[in-house]
Amino acid sequence: MVRAGIIGLGNMGGRMVKRLLEGGAEVGIYDVNQEAIEAMVKLGAEKAESPADLARKFQYIITVLPNVYIVQETLQGNNGLMDGMNGESLLIEMTTSIPSVTKELSAAMKAKGLRMIDAPVSGGVKKAENGTLSIMVGGEESDYKEALPLLEMLGENINHVGAAGAGHTIKALNNMISATTLAATGEAMALGVKLGLDPAKMLDVINTSTGKSFSSDFKFPNQVLTRNFEVGFTLDLMVKDLKIAMSMAEQESVPMFISGASFQLWKKAWTEGRGSEDHTAIIKSIEEMFNVEIKG
Ligand code: NAD
Repeated sequence: MVRAGIIGLGNMGGRMVKRLLEGGAEVGIYDVNQEAIEAMVKLGAEKAESPADLARKFQYIITVLPNVYIVQETLQGNNGLMDGMNGESLLIEMTTSIPSVTKELSAAMKAKGLRMIDAPVSGGVKKAENGTLSIMVGGEESDYKEALPLLEMLGENINHVGAAGAGHTIKALNNMISATTLAATGEAMALGVKLGLDPAKMLDVINTSTGKSFSSDFKFPNQVLTRNFEVGFTLDLMVKDLKIAMSMAEQESVPMFISGASFQLWKKAWTEGRGSEDHTAIIKSIEEMFNVEIKG
């Protein structure tokens, strides 16, 4: 019987809890949001009083939290995970986070005989629901292998990519590509509409041509043309991911011409107050600049 505790019951974590329960696992939960806890208890999850309490009851702990500062607090704060974990425990850190901090946290845990892997995910809420996420893992290979049966309940493309922090590194790079592709596709679509093209026809062509991407294939037909900007992954979180990628480049003193330009566009949308909207709201920002609407 798989037993795991999950901290962070938001758009991703909540769906992961459901997925594990449906797969027959025993699931413990912790969050600061009581409503989220109650919804999961109704589904059969077991509520813990603190991260430490959860760690005392469950050998495997998953964190899927908004950012690294909350992860740090959850690990090292009062009644944090490190107070409850032991040598048998394994932390599976699925937040999109800052690789350098992950390396520090991993080293701090190792110094106390504790273990963690970073295992961020890609795919969005639909794939979290279906258990078809991509999962990219950094850390010891033996810990990765131990976590694999649990990870296989959540995802289907699971790769061990290197040492501690490597998972968080590739995740930030992936989202930098994803953010840039969405922004570039948005500009092209808006220009096409301005020039009198039908957006649905444009997508038919792009999606059978070399401009195709996950943005053109999935986000545009399902979220933009339908004007269904339902929140799954907020613009706040995308801007956070871009900041992580940009600071990685900054640390290496390398230029980021293309992604840097897209980052400015994302920050523009953020300063317009769109942070709590779905990240696809960047298209609304582009539409306003072009004075068009991309609808099907
Ligand atoms: P979310 O904001 O929907 O959920 C975060 C949850 O964490 C909330 O339930 C919140 O109450 C809880 N939380 C906040 N502070 C806490 C604390 N101190 N202790 C315990 N719980 C706390 O976020 P999300 O969309 O589920 O994203 C979670 C992580 O997954 C982020 O790092 C994000 O970048 C990453 N991610 C999200 C998606 C997506 O499509 N939503 C896809 C890939 C990766």
